[in-house]
Amino acid sequence: MLHTHVCGMRIGENQELTGMEHKPASSGKWKPAVFLSAAVAIAVALYSIDPTGPSGQYLPHCPVRWATGFDCPGCGATRAAHALLHLRFAEAAAYNYFLVISIPLLICAMVVEIAPAGSLRRCRKMIFSRPILYSYIALTLVWWIVRNILSI
Ligand SMILES: [Zn+2]
Repeated sequence: MLHTHVCGMRIGENQELTGMEHKPASSGKWKPAVFLSAAVAIAVALYSIDPTGPSGQYLPHCPVRWATGFDCPGCGATRAAHALLHLRFAEAAAYNYFLVISIPLLICAMVVEIAPAGSLRRCRKMIFSRPILYSYIALTLVWWIVRNILSI
């Protein structure tokens, strides 16, 4: 017997759908607004709070650095983001080169993630492809090693 799943319920082939079927709550209708609101809130916080100033003492410290004494791939990212938002690119790069060179990819990923369904399908498929993902993970690991060897 053929069954179709609608909203988590199984519908047999002899039952008619009455047009009452609807998309689940997580259909993505609010996703762009929630995503953009969160991004703006984080950007405002990163712009306002200087991690190198007195208010920075309240920010969480890196557990990897605390536990091992080595920088993790993300160390300096908060300071770099603060510097980037104040358009101090050289300072941002000095805090975390990898974050700065990742910005175009991160922006592309955010754009395709919040774009209306069906649009930018090729870009979405390419950006979230395994080769890109695995390459990014490999580069992150290389960056992790290199930054601790060169103390950058
Ligand atoms: Zn870290």
